[in-house]
Amino acid sequence: MTDLHEIILGDVTVTRVEETHGPIMPADQFFPDLPEQAWKDHRDMLVPDHLGADDAMVHVAMQTWLLRSEGRTILIDTGVGNDKSRPAVAAWDHQQLDYLGNLARAGVRPEDVDLVVNTHLHVDHVGWNTRLVDGAWTPTFPNATYLMPRADFERWNPATHPDIAGGVNENVFEDSIAPVHAAGQVLLWEDSHTIDAHLRLEAAPGHTPGSSVINLASGSDRAVFAGDLLHTPLQLMEPEHNSCFCEDPVASRATRHKILGRAADHNALILPAHFAGHGALEVQRSAATFTIKQWAPFSRL
Ligand SMILES: [Zn+2]
Repeated sequence: MTDLHEIILGDVTVTRVEETHGPIMPADQFFPDLPEQAWKDHRDMLVPDHLGADDAMVHVAMQTWLLRSEGRTILIDTGVGNDKSRPAVAAWDHQQLDYLGNLARAGVRPEDVDLVVNTHLHVDHVGWNTRLVDGAWTPTFPNATYLMPRADFERWNPATHPDIAGGVNENVFEDSIAPVHAAGQVLLWEDSHTIDAHLRLEAAPGHTPGSSVINLASGSDRAVFAGDLLHTPLQLMEPEHNSCFCEDPVASRATRHKILGRAADHNALILPAHFAGHGALEVQRSAATFTIKQWAPFSRL
């Protein structure tokens, strides 16, 4: 079971369930402002999990952090999904991957999931919210409450934002958000939301208006599920630099500094949405930036 990676943080068990991983975009397109020299300076750390050896393509994972906490089964982010029409990204169009098989190998059936947390509502974080059943988009997790940030829900809701069609999120509200909302399974939150005694959602705006992180505090262990706060470990050393998908550059930068700084000060494990390889890491401050203290004990893929 090479695709399963589990660690225990206090009273919470964390498992990585992968949808896929591999090259996604050329580095200079994904991070238009990040100096080419920085990729060269940190090449040994980045290749092969985060940067292609020969093609300068950024590598990322699509994955769910599966949490078991207080007897509940919780999924953080749900990847790209199968069967979806994604005109903006060819690789994601009508994708066919065995994500539910990977979830089953982690011991989870769709009906077992109590809570789904979408850190934000971009296309690659909400895909398995629904699946195609008899031609209709149906909530994949029939017994789950889905926690969604209100700011993103309103941003992509055609009812409140009729000019929003197009772009990377084309069709996403219609096939991955609205069907769950219509089923009465969506809980919208803003500012912060307490999940249980160990887990708390916190607004982390910038990448999108509703972007969020989940803070874990259990016993002496601390962690932050950081969503799309960063997409490559190079942004630890170069935290000023956003991805091309970060909608508000100033807020993205400020939020990245704030959350990473707090993680460094509290020895919190950082679990970004998209890191391949070890998937998670601890950092320490280094002047105005950060360096990697250690990678998580998740095994390498
Ligand atoms: Zn993402």
